[in-house]
Amino acid sequence: PIASDSPVKDTLGGATYQQVEDTNFRLRPVLKELTKTDYFKYYKVDLSPELCPFNDDELGMCGNRACAVDVIDDESEVPEFWRSQYLGKLAKDSVTTDRLWSPDDDAVASKLCRANGVSVGHEYYNVLPSPSPPSKDDYLDSELEDTNYCYPEDESLSGPGTYVSLPDNPERFTGYGGPHANKVWRAVYQENCFGYFGDSNQDSGTSNAVSSGDGFSAGQLQPSLPAAGSLLSSVLMDSNRYERQEVGGESGRQALNAEKQCVEQRLFYRILSGLQSSVSSHLCYEYLNQTTGEWVPNLDCFMSRVGNHQERLENLYFNYALVSRAVSKLRNYIDDLHFNNQDASADQATRRQLLRLIKSSSPVTYSRAQANDTNTPTSASSSQQKLLLFNETAIFSSPEGRALKSEFRKRVRNVSALMSCVGCDRCRLWGKLQTAGYGTALKLLFELPENPADDPELCSTVMSTFRRSELVALINTLDRLSKSIEAVTYFRNELQSQAVEA
Ligand code: FAD
Repeated sequence: PIASDSPVKDTLGGATYQQVEDTNFRLRPVLKELTKTDYFKYYKVDLSPELCPFNDDELGMCGNRACAVDVIDDESEVPEFWRSQYLGKLAKDSVTTDRLWSPDDDAVASKLCRANGVSVGHEYYNVLPSPSPPSKDDYLDSELEDTNYCYPEDESLSGPGTYVSLPDNPERFTGYGGPHANKVWRAVYQENCFGYFGDSNQDSGTSNAVSSGDGFSAGQLQPSLPAAGSLLSSVLMDSNRYERQEVGGESGRQALNAEKQCVEQRLFYRILSGLQSSVSSHLCYEYLNQTTGEWVPNLDCFMSRVGNHQERLENLYFNYALVSRAVSKLRNYIDDLHFNNQDASADQATRRQLLRLIKSSSPVTYSRAQANDTNTPTSASSSQQKLLLFNETAIFSSPEGRALKSEFRKRVRNVSALMSCVGCDRCRLWGKLQTAGYGTALKLLFELPENPADDPELCSTVMSTFRRSELVALINTLDRLSKSIEAVTYFRNELQSQAVEA
């Protein structure tokens, strides 16, 4: 009874569960290694709850030990290269000009991206801690529009926050929950751009998300843990821009109110839902057994929160396809990224490790020589390529889609700001990191042309704002999703063993 092999009913074509799991099989060991390296394991983050845009005094914060974050007090633990005392020195080397978005940019970008332009040559983009990124207040107060879908963490000398070693603070069960957590999730879904989405029992379109309503309720779908090989219809459709949702699932219920959803709205909902599925998968995969004090997988926890809900699973796989696609897009930029201005061999080592990941992150791999020919996969048939690729070119392409783009960015940034409201430091850390990771993925997918040569000027502008914290967030978000897929396969095997025994 675990899974149906039948295709998920949806009008979207897409990757299969099996393809995602196969990709993950290759990618998991590479990610595990990469996220242990100094470059990718240290993350500077401002965990101040005061950054929460809402006043919410009435509900307390989580005081469990498991909710705490171990920060790095002793700077000597952080690699010398980006210790704050050195960051000032990078200022003159780093290109960090943020620019204002103008309404013409999208049109110009799409026009230029179609033209096959001049080679970008060997202009290097620093993926280094930057000296003076815009403050969060800049975004919130002046409604700054740019190519960012998140508020990247500020690694500057004067910036707030502390370095955290991510492997030392695993995302797992913390005991944080109840009305506070529900309110944050509710607020997150109600950021969903257009008033149409969110989970059941919500008033779609309610503006004061945090103070409204009395909790969520779970969907009533049958167990639906995917069998490897069943169809994952999770890539957005190309042709029909609007669709009617299936009625019966979480978003389906909303569809009764919504009537129609455009692909951009649907994308937004899926990312949020996939994020929540991933958080739930981790906390159930490393659940605290209060009798033994050990962190162990909890099948009931997983089935009730994720495994019994087909849409939640589907959205988890969807996010995997989306983020791995964004990572694989870096293949054409990797040679021009600078990771360490001061140590050429460290710079090369990080580039090599990242390249290994990029090559594993998609069934399609490209050699540098083929970088200009995006239709020439070297290690996969074009049908595989078509299936796993997330078709970002269909998003924001219609006149209504283009109009939605800046609002979409703003809404994603709002979700990222809401992470400061999470009432448990450990969960806030991972919530902030993952929303920054999705923001980076969206920026790569929707703001960058496939090849630098397609539009050197645009690439240079976007890449010059690309920060180490964004890259670290992107890679660790993919690692989170990768571990979630590992959890799904683990729980599926558990369920099958139980079925055999019974
Ligand atoms: P919740 O998981 O809070 O779900 C609330 C409601 O949301 C459900 O009833 C359902 O209607 C809807 N819903 C659930 N899943 C989905 C989905 N995938 N798609 C659409 N709708 C859905 N706890 C930890 O132990 N460790 C963590 O690291 C952690 N990180 C967190 C990060 C954030 C940003 C937040 C807001 C909370 C975090 N929590 C964490 C708390 C955790 O997510 C739950 O909120 C908590 O365990 C209480 O669970 P619940 O049973 O009330 O349901």
